[in-house]
Amino acid sequence: MPSSDIIQLLPDSIANQIAAGEVVQRPASVVKELMENAIDAKANHVQVILKEAGRTLIQIIDDGSGMSETDARMSFERHATSKIRQSEDLFRIRTMGFRGEALASIAAIAQVELRTRQEFDELGTMIRIDGSEIKAQEAVACLKGTNLSVKNLFFNVPARRNFLKSNSVEMRHVLDEFQRVALAHPQVSFTLHHNDTEVFNLQSGKLVRRIIDIYGKSYREQLAFCQEDTSYISVRGYIGKPEFARKTRGEQFFFVNDRYIKHSYMHHAVISAFDGTIPEGSHPFYVLFIEIDPSHIDINIHPTKTEIKFDDERSVYAIVMAAVKKAVGVYNLSQSIDFDD
Ligand code: ADP
Ligand code: MG
Repeated sequence: MPSSDIIQLLPDSIANQIAAGEVVQRPASVVKELMENAIDAKANHVQVILKEAGRTLIQIIDDGSGMSETDARMSFERHATSKIRQSEDLFRIRTMGFRGEALASIAAIAQVELRTRQEFDELGTMIRIDGSEIKAQEAVACLKGTNLSVKNLFFNVPARRNFLKSNSVEMRHVLDEFQRVALAHPQVSFTLHHNDTEVFNLQSGKLVRRIIDIYGKSYREQLAFCQEDTSYISVRGYIGKPEFARKTRGEQFFFVNDRYIKHSYMHHAVISAFDGTIPEGSHPFYVLFIEIDPSHIDINIHPTKTEIKFDDERSVYAIVMAAVKKAVGVYNLSQSIDFDD
């Protein structure tokens, strides 16, 4: 019997839908991706508007660079990005995005409307896409920046839609992502509205102000500044005083080059630095920023980019631990911490 050929390239719409499975788990994933795009576009102000925990509407409005007409169209293509051009760029990543997948993925599984304008263009561009299919594109008058609304997430993927949890659970996930991006970028102002109620209105300012604006005034007296610089990395941020440690987890944040990262080994470094000052099994508050040359890290491990590999993990561990130890020690010696903001 002659052999028969049966392999075909998938159409983009299906490839995008498959990619979306990894990038977009729930409304919170969309909020994260779009907020990060606004940050990458150098926005000073980012508005997040939600209906029904993002199920029916997620709208992100930024005052960033905006896009040209051609780029507006290109932005929905898979692997289409302005952030890297060649393979070496993967070791120089300073932006939040670089995979060129988020908009293509989101447009594959929702009804999307984009309005965007660059500063010196007279008119902007409006594009409407339903499940990867372009429904409309026209020139429109609009503000400088980008306004993207994502309606009826998973409208064409019933299994995913049904998998979503209650609005309060989905909203919890959204708030987690919102707070992480907001903590990572205190120089940017953010608002969050849910069902026409203002949930957050965060002015731009210093990190300590952002922490207090998110978590409440009671945190002000509980924070100790943390800093350690070496030629390999610099660590700075705030830890909560030992007696402020809680039974529940959730307020422990690592940012590597301003990107939120989950890293159990580095978490262990912090916990070890608190050794003897907090009860077993309690969790200290921390918001720590690691600055490192991007050539020493690999962020390209998972599509959601929350995992990272350092080329010298042991050094990072030691430096983080030293930074936190010093802060715990200083706090124990003197309680005069400068809270200028
Ligand atoms: P990535 O962020 O990985 O490049 P995305 O699919 O999220 O991929 O976005 C694709 C491209 O669209 C970006 O590289 C950027 O050029 C453009 N873009 C997306 N969102 C915005 C925005 N809010 N403002 C300006 N440009 C944007
Ligand atoms: Mg992106």
